[in-house]
Amino acid sequence: MPVHSWLASPRETRGILDRYGLATKHRLGQNFLVNDAVIGKILDLAELADTDVVFEIGPGIGTLTVAMLPLAGAVVSVEADRDLPPVLAETCSRDSERFALVEGDALRVGAAQLTDAVGSLGIEGLDPQPTKLVSNLPYQVAATVVLKTFEQMPSVRRAVVMVQAEVADRMAASPGSKAYGGYTAKLALYARPTGRFEVGPGNFMPPPHVDSAVIRLDRMPMPDPSTGEPLSCECISWCGRVIDAAFAQRRKTIRNSMGSNGFDKAVLDEAFAAVGISPTARAEALSPEDFVRLSLALEGSQHV
Ligand code: SAM
Repeated sequence: MPVHSWLASPRETRGILDRYGLATKHRLGQNFLVNDAVIGKILDLAELADTDVVFEIGPGIGTLTVAMLPLAGAVVSVEADRDLPPVLAETCSRDSERFALVEGDALRVGAAQLTDAVGSLGIEGLDPQPTKLVSNLPYQVAATVVLKTFEQMPSVRRAVVMVQAEVADRMAASPGSKAYGGYTAKLALYARPTGRFEVGPGNFMPPPHVDSAVIRLDRMPMPDPSTGEPLSCECISWCGRVIDAAFAQRRKTIRNSMGSNGFDKAVLDEAFAAVGISPTARAEALSPEDFVRLSLALEGSQHV
């Protein structure tokens, strides 16, 4: 018997889809969760409270949504499939006073739209800004939306997201490992992995062709090494540009890659010497902390 979500079984999911005359859509990454135990583990990691406003990307038929609604202050979900709003109106009807649905592409939705949608629910005493991103993400956009959420929604303190196992590896990779890249280094400027569990294809309908994992990321902005204070938004964004230039040509040395991507080589040499980074190193050998030190040394110099 499901205890978290009455929708989390193959029978209920098929029943709802059949009743609305729908089939799952591969192009939208529709692999619906059908195991209630997985929902329970997601909720354990999310640690929802009634002060939380959950931002959910891709509610589908509402399988995870209905489990979160009784635990959170509100849930605001963004769904791209135009066939699903009537389904969600039915499945989420029990907690409709706490549920806001934004129809559209999560890549185009901004913080203000989410906050307005929650504000229009008129829940007394609830700050309408999203606090946690909790989602079984459509895999095509997963990596992008997680980084975008941490970059553009400072009120979001935690993400608990189902992603392709390979993407979870990239999110948590150590410098020098195969999975480590510019994406890892940029995400580390905002957040750190604090939990993870693996989810096999049999937990979804239809089963995906890849392994999945749920990863928890907590916002922990990288500190300024000289003051210990969190880096400013401007500094983080500048560091992101330095990381992009360093990884732009992965096989080249960091000096050549950055030199071909808008940085003056003489200025670079001065900065490398000042922070003790070898100009012949490859970008994947540098830790996120190294990139912060390099960016601070380059600040005020010739920018891209
Ligand atoms: N949350 C449901 C569950 O766990 O069973 C469904 C998850 S399913 C993996 C991904 C959902 O994201 C689908 O409902 C799909 O229609 C939706 N989706 C796909 N691309 C999207 C996008 N760019 N913006 C918002 N939703 C999207």
